[in-house]
Amino acid sequence: MSLTRKSAAELAALMASGEVSAVEVTQAHLDRVAEVDPKINAFLHVDAEAALEQARAIDARRAAGEELGPLAGVPIAHKDVFTTIDMPTTAGSRILEGWRPPYDATVTRRLREAGLVILGKTNLDEFAMGSSTENSAYFPTRNPWDLSRVPGGSSGGSSAAVAGYVTPLSTGTDTGGSIRQPAAVTGIVGMKPTYGGSSRYGLIAFASSLDTPGPFARNVLDAALLHEAFSGHDPLDSTSIDAPVPPVVEAARHPDVAGLRVGVVKEFAGEGYQQGVLNRFHDSVELLESLGAKVVEVSCPSFTTALPAYYLIAPSECSSNLARFDAMRYGLRVGDDGTRSAEEVMALTRAAGFGPEVKRRIMLGTYALSSGYYDAYYGQAQKVRTLIARDFEAAFQQVDVLISPTTPTTAFPIGERADDPMAMYLADLCTIPANLAGNAAISVPCGLADEDGLPVGLQIMAPVLGDDRCYRVGAAVEKAFESRWNGPLLKEAPAL
Ligand code: GLN
Repeated sequence: MSLTRKSAAELAALMASGEVSAVEVTQAHLDRVAEVDPKINAFLHVDAEAALEQARAIDARRAAGEELGPLAGVPIAHKDVFTTIDMPTTAGSRILEGWRPPYDATVTRRLREAGLVILGKTNLDEFAMGSSTENSAYFPTRNPWDLSRVPGGSSGGSSAAVAGYVTPLSTGTDTGGSIRQPAAVTGIVGMKPTYGGSSRYGLIAFASSLDTPGPFARNVLDAALLHEAFSGHDPLDSTSIDAPVPPVVEAARHPDVAGLRVGVVKEFAGEGYQQGVLNRFHDSVELLESLGAKVVEVSCPSFTTALPAYYLIAPSECSSNLARFDAMRYGLRVGDDGTRSAEEVMALTRAAGFGPEVKRRIMLGTYALSSGYYDAYYGQAQKVRTLIARDFEAAFQQVDVLISPTTPTTAFPIGERADDPMAMYLADLCTIPANLAGNAAISVPCGLADEDGLPVGLQIMAPVLGDDRCYRVGAAVEKAFESRWNGPLLKEAPAL
């Protein structure tokens, strides 16, 4: 079997036993990048030489008898919203084109310390704003299941790289669904850790009270291994939680749900959902029951107001965060010909450097925060946020995890929603509550939709710092579906 078909854990075992070297593993994946990336456009930047250099260093350390971490030598694709000292970092925006950060993000640094081999930086919606990767200032990424469709977003380059067997692992960030939704529509696993469980230091900020780094993988155990490798307390991030990382790897190895109380979120199903998505969701409910879980319906009435609250809070924070792109400190500078004032240069640069969706968010956020409107919009949205957190707390008095479809539809065609922001925003209907409340949530594949044969994701939500529950239930679903269908869901990336 070719090396690119293997999981991260399998590759790590092969390297640990000396059957293959990290250089061979890296080369195989670089060959796959060359073969497949022209079709899917997952990467903004690939540095083959630097990757081989990292692999050689791992091989040398292993040869010297050093004890290496469980993912040493495994290739990874890194979302281009994390700073990297040795590679450009654009956040998918023209305003940062060619920018070389002076430091590594904490997530980047921990990937390196774990011995992961970073092949390159992946495409995303500009500043992580979007659900399709079409808002990238560079090019859209394509879904490996159907090249005419989106890979989800904003972490669409990372989801496409893993679904297309280009890398076994990748990183993402989830502010409103940007890990779980792309994972769902490309048939892979994507986890949003508890807010504060993974560091934001060196992550280019979109909405600081929501932004959460997390892993993508083709199976639950690989995702847990990556989660463990880069999460945990970071004194450089003021909202980082000073607590041990929940036992996610242990949980992924114990796929047992007997006696577990599972709540189906009543508000998330029915109208507006694709029938094939609902069918696979109902299969998942039956499956969990057959495994001994006690499934009950739970009402979370405030969840229906999460989307409008998010589209006040996230743009408000973004309008403030993106003020730093002032033409003076980073990247692009337009019109600085010695005749214009700093203010004029700033206006010209921001007009040229930001795309339409980013401008829309800055305007919405600036309006929502302006005096006279602050209480009516931002203040009100913060109250809704509290109600959502209370709904979660009440639900977790009755059940151990909550489940829903990850996203209402399968991957949509490129271009279909590009001019309809509301339709685009609806992709995150079910994922946003966990962001607003800071809870842990995962998406795992649960089959293919009847109408179009495209992947469907099951979302499993857990309490704050209950990340291990997501992995335990996710692993149980994965294992049961594997034996039912005689093999992993994503045997092939059909379009490649
Ligand atoms: N799609 C949502 C948005 O556009 C979520 C993005 C994200 O999680 N980064 O804001």
